[in-house]
Amino acid sequence: MPHAKLTDRFGRTVNYVRLSVTDRCDFRCVYCMAEDMTFLPRQQVLTLEEIARVARNFVALGTEKIRLTGGEPLVRKDILELVKEIGSYGLRDFAMTTNGSQLTTMAEPLRKAGMHRLNISLDSLDAEKFHNITRTGRLSQVLDGIDAAREAGFRGIKLNTVVMKGRNDEEIPELIEFARKKQVDISFIEEMPLGEISEHDRGLALCTSEEVRDIIRQHHELVPATEDSGGPARYYRMPGSRTRVGFISPHSHNFCSTCNRVRVTVEGRLLLCLGNEHSVDLRRVLRGNPVTDDKLRETIINAMDLKPEKHHFSTNGDVQILRFMNMTGG
Ligand code: SAM
Ligand code: SF4
Repeated sequence: MPHAKLTDRFGRTVNYVRLSVTDRCDFRCVYCMAEDMTFLPRQQVLTLEEIARVARNFVALGTEKIRLTGGEPLVRKDILELVKEIGSYGLRDFAMTTNGSQLTTMAEPLRKAGMHRLNISLDSLDAEKFHNITRTGRLSQVLDGIDAAREAGFRGIKLNTVVMKGRNDEEIPELIEFARKKQVDISFIEEMPLGEISEHDRGLALCTSEEVRDIIRQHHELVPATEDSGGPARYYRMPGSRTRVGFISPHSHNFCSTCNRVRVTVEGRLLLCLGNEHSVDLRRVLRGNPVTDDKLRETIINAMDLKPEKHHFSTNGDVQILRFMNMTGG
């Protein structure tokens, strides 16, 4: 396939695509979903073939890295077929973000199907708190899943923790020890104002990356990592440990100037920015008559002109983006 480059109006090269493969999930995390969610009807959701077509055309336009996400990607039926297909495109990096609930059975098949890396969400090591945050999740299942992932031999495993004051901020030292013991990386994420939630006030619960770093520094030295992830996370190393600690700080650190990514929702909406509503409907093109890869690529290339310069999240707890993270593809 010819390799072109996707570039936006601000000279940023887009070579990373996050594809949401479902809006559904077996958990109902308080920061991500309402307790009572209505999910999309099947005909509005891209088929696995349509998702693969989108992926293939992005690769033809220079995409080197694809992440599958959701909702919970492992609840999508036949997800391994899609992983196998995308795994055959020769990507530099192919990753998935998962809540870990299915990994005891899925880790090895995923690895064999060509997945390189996993991000596994883990907000608490206390079974009750974990259940309170996820509303339906069982901690033991996820911990077993993390072990299964380690045994499967992925190139990298990273834990993702959304830190909320009063819910799990006290567990930061334990989570760090856990990551060190399991020899996996860990990222702490500031909660983003996506979708309206009722369980806590996001403004009050916000625990900034600076605060999290201060807590960790009481236990470990944090040395800025030299390698650049090219993404929003800033990484640190702890002397004597292989574990890297990342901080994703949409509030306190604006990472937009180096943004290299776009997202495609499971409805086929190409989102140009996590923190803005700018989007282009790829499903219309995928279901047009005739459907051509040329038309799809032209639509993707033209969409780059809509990529906004930056996002503006405020910390006053207001909802700024109406779509929930499960619709966005986190
Ligand atoms: N279900 C998978 C999981 O939980 O890992 C993948 C999808 S989930 C939407 C992706 C990531 O987004 C998770 O690490 C989750 O913690 C994070 N997330 C969800 N809602 C968020 C929010 N409002 N602010 C910050 N991170 C959020
Ligand atoms: Fe599901 Fe992931 Fe959202 Fe939690 S963060 S409700 S696991 S999609």
